[in-house]
Amino acid sequence: MHELGLMASVLSSVEEAAHEAKATRVTCIRLVVGDLTEVVDDALGFALEALGPGTVSEGAELVVERVAPRSRCTQCGHEFTHDRFHRTCPLCDALATELLAGRELYIKNIEIAHAPSFRSRQSKADRGVLGDTHLDDTHLGDAHDGARNTKAR
Ligand SMILES: [Zn+2]
Repeated sequence: MHELGLMASVLSSVEEAAHEAKATRVTCIRLVVGDLTEVVDDALGFALEALGPGTVSEGAELVVERVAPRSRCTQCGHEFTHDRFHRTCPLCDALATELLAGRELYIKNIEIAHAPSFRSRQSKADRGVLGDTHLDDTHLGDAHDGARNTKAR
């Protein structure tokens, strides 16, 4: 189950971002996950429950946005969404298609909070969103294994 390793990477990036923003707590983590990554939402949730306690992300809500696979036909140029197994062009039946989306795996943003005692009068204004902390392949290990045969076969 590589969700555990994945979540460990996510939490360390989140920890870093929260630290830079001087946040004491992370209230929400939003991930974007392509369907071709074979990452399971529930397993991510369990991983957060297992790894979150004791970190700045303890008790944070996890929101996972799934991205359906999308390809472009290299013969006729048609763009279409499809499932994990059927990538043939629906217009011309060509097998040669180029994957455009479906392998995403990154932190879209996180929501943070500061300790109320830190600035008690403006605690509401101290909430913020940090955007687009993209993780590259080195952070996310073998998460892209499912989708290597995207070019012409
Ligand atoms: Zn086509």
